Amino acid sequence: MIQSEDTLMHQGMRRRLVEAIRQKGISDEQVLEAIGAIPRHLFMDSTFVQFAYVDKAFPIAVGQTISQPYTVAFQTQLLGIKKYDRVLEVGTGSGYQAAVLCHLGAVVYTIERQKKLYESTRVALPKLGYRPNFFYGDGYLGLPSYGPFDKIIVTAGAPSVPEELKLQLKINGVLVVPVGAGGHQIMVVVTRISENEFLEEERGDFVFVPLLNGVVD
Ligand code: SAH
Repeated sequence: MIQSEDTLMHQGMRRRLVEAIRQKGISDEQVLEAIGAIPRHLFMDSTFVQFAYVDKAFPIAVGQTISQPYTVAFQTQLLGIKKYDRVLEVGTGSGYQAAVLCHLGAVVYTIERQKKLYESTRVALPKLGYRPNFFYGDGYLGLPSYGPFDKIIVTAGAPSVPEELKLQLKINGVLVVPVGAGGHQIMVVVTRISENEFLEEERGDFVFVPLLNGVVD
């Protein structure tokens, strides 16, 4: 990332992005404020700055994507983040979603299976003032020694709801995970009602890169 400036032009583009995702149905003012505050262009290669504030996913390194702003806002709204919530994110990627969670005051644990992304985001994000706890590993397994979590967000499409992640939720904890093996996913919200009871709700269609097993060196 060569660029580091957040200019009035960027801020103006961001205000328009916030209005666009509000029009699409995002109503949580704290989430909208976070999207309005975080310089998304600094999470992308400087060559692509003109794409930073259109409401679209965009390629980052190693065939992965920075999620669409609407999708980031939608998943974050479903989580209902409160200050000091312990949040696990599976799929660090560019770190943009992690920055949104940090901005809302969560204590964030983020895990990435691609070493290259883990290493670059671990260096870049603190420079922007966002300090989640970074892990390199297979997010399918969660982070059992750091749980249980108030909230868990998966930012890649899973073939089914990962059982290990359900078990790392606190009682009343919420897991938001896109589920579907094909070209699109259904957003699933899992609430842990008791030790052994989970409520599953479906919340619309999305497109994500796949959640994959194991790590890439
Ligand atoms: N939250 C990211 C979205 C990145 S795309 C952002 O805001 O930019 C999804 C990411 O999930 C990719 O970086 C991919 O490498 C990662 N991923 C896929 N399967 C994973 C797994 N099992 N464990 C951890 N990360 C995984």
